[in-house]
Amino acid sequence: MIRIEHVRKVYGRGEGTVVALDDVNLEVPQGQIFGVLGQSGAGKSTLIRCVNLLERPTSGTITVGGQEVTALSGRSLRQARQRIGMIFQQFNLLTSRTVAENVAFPLEIMGESKTKRRARVRELLSLVGLEEKADVYPAQLSGGQKQRVGIARALANSPDILLSDEATSALDPQTTRAILDLLRDLNQRMGLTILLITHEMSVVKQICHQAAILEGGRIVEQGRVSTLAAQP
Ligand code: ADP
Ligand code: ADP
Repeated sequence: MIRIEHVRKVYGRGEGTVVALDDVNLEVPQGQIFGVLGQSGAGKSTLIRCVNLLERPTSGTITVGGQEVTALSGRSLRQARQRIGMIFQQFNLLTSRTVAENVAFPLEIMGESKTKRRARVRELLSLVGLEEKADVYPAQLSGGQKQRVGIARALANSPDILLSDEATSALDPQTTRAILDLLRDLNQRMGLTILLITHEMSVVKQICHQAAILEGGRIVEQGRVSTLAAQP
C-alpha cells in the first residue's frame, strides 16, 4: 500500500545541510499497522511529512496505492492528499468549531452537501464513540476524546491510509491504551492501513504488525515486532 524507495531528504544548502533521511526503504502492506520507531531527531516527522505530501524528498520515490505520489503537483497532488488521513500529537483541532464541525471540515473542503455531511459526521462520531459530544467544543473534551475527534476527522474522506504522528504521546498510559485499541479495531474492521511513528517501543508492541527502527535518518532494523522487541 505504501512503498518508500531510496528516499533521501536534505535540508538547507552549503555548510548548514542536514541529512534528515538517508536512503530509506520501507514497504507497508495493505491492511497492516506499521510502526516507525526512533528517538528525537531520527527523521520520523520528516518521513511522515514526505508520505503526507507536505514535504518533497530530495530524491527517491513514494508510492501510495500504486500511484507514485512524489511526482505529483497541483490538482493531482491535492487529490492524492485527500486519500491520506493524519492524526497528530497535539490533535490539531479547530478550537472555535464544535466536534461535529471539526469532523465535517474535510468534507466541506470536498464540497459535500450539508445533508451528506451531517449523515457522515454522525457515522464517524459513532465509529469513535463520541455521538454525545457532537455539539461541544474541543476545550470541553479530555485528551483521549480530542484524539477520537482527530481520528474521526482523519477518516472523513475514507482515506486509503492513516498516518499517525506521535498520536498518543500527549496522553496518559490508560488513555494511550484506549486510543491504540481503537486504532487496532479500525484496522481489523475496515482493513485500514496505518503508518505510525513513535518514540515508544510499548506503542509498537501493542498494535504494530511490523516495525522499522530509524536512527540518524537511516533504517537500522526492520521486521516483525516479535524480532525487534528482542533487541536491547
Ligand atoms: P524526529 O521527528 O524523529 O524528531 P525530524 O524529522 O523532525 O526528526 O528531524 C530530523 C532531522 O532533520 C533533525 O536533525 C532536524 O533538526 C532536521 N530538520 C527537520 N526539519 C527541518 C527543517 N525544516 N529545516 C532544517 N532541518 C530540519
Ligand atoms: P494550515 O496550513 O493553516 O494549518 P491546513 O489546511 O493545513 O491549514 O489544515 C487545516 C486544518 O486541518 C488544521 O486544523 C489541520 O490541523 C488539519 N489538517 C491538516 N492536514 C490534515 C490531514 N491530512 N488530515 C486531517 N486534518 C488535517
